[in-house]
Amino acid sequence: MTALIDDLKRLKLAIFDLDGVVYRGNKLIPNVDQIIKRLNNLSIQVVYNSNNSTATREMYVKKLKKYNISSNINDFYTSASITATEITKLKQKAKIFIIGEIGLKKELEAKGHTILTERDNFEVVDFVIVGLDRDFNYNKLSIAQRCILDGNALFYATNSDTTLPVAERLMPGAGVMVNAVETCTSQKPIKIFGKPNPFGINLILEERNTEPEFACIFGDRLNTDILAGNRAGIITVAVLTGVATLEDVENIKKNSLLSKKVDRNLIPDIILNSLDNIFI
Ligand SMILES: [Mg+2]
Repeated sequence: MTALIDDLKRLKLAIFDLDGVVYRGNKLIPNVDQIIKRLNNLSIQVVYNSNNSTATREMYVKKLKKYNISSNINDFYTSASITATEITKLKQKAKIFIIGEIGLKKELEAKGHTILTERDNFEVVDFVIVGLDRDFNYNKLSIAQRCILDGNALFYATNSDTTLPVAERLMPGAGVMVNAVETCTSQKPIKIFGKPNPFGINLILEERNTEPEFACIFGDRLNTDILAGNRAGIITVAVLTGVATLEDVENIKKNSLLSKKVDRNLIPDIILNSLDNIFI
């Protein structure tokens, strides 16, 4: 029989970050497929929460299928899908200009919103939403600026990650585009829906009808996954298969003792070298 380690015995809902926890680039992190099956066998729900807004949830279902992990689209909470849910609470059938990719576009359209692209429409735009856009350019930036400064558009962002880990290197993240819009409008986004803000985790807890004490997040970044998890009051597990190292965690712990300015929410409840270590 497989049993969970003591700290996770009460677990009913496991929230997995994707990059650095389930896969890295296009490679499955060893055994994660088996670990997810074992959690399912223990009647623990598994869902996925990623800050990446570029892919649709259907694309993630397909990607995990390649690794023999079965899932359905409602198991994924991306910064794009979370943004679409939250924006819909603010306004139905909104007109939106995005700096972003297909994931953000499809999620917003699926909720009944219209994505505008024409420069002339700036006066009718309700929201400018900024996420990672690998075709980001000066023209898009100038339209966003105009909608916000000359029109009535409100500025929101999917996430503010400064970097995007891709296989063996780092690429610029959504935060770069968010900063560009901030700089040319002198406005900050009203809300950033991705981690480390807990919108996504709160939405998951609500939709899965689970109290925070029975949920945990497995994440590889302290300043997004672990911070969001602690803010939402769930169990936080740092898995050292992605960005964060043991040294990073030790440094945060040490610095938090030395300075009150260091946010203790960056400290995970549990540190694991690998997800295999959740079982005894
Ligand atoms: Mg990650």
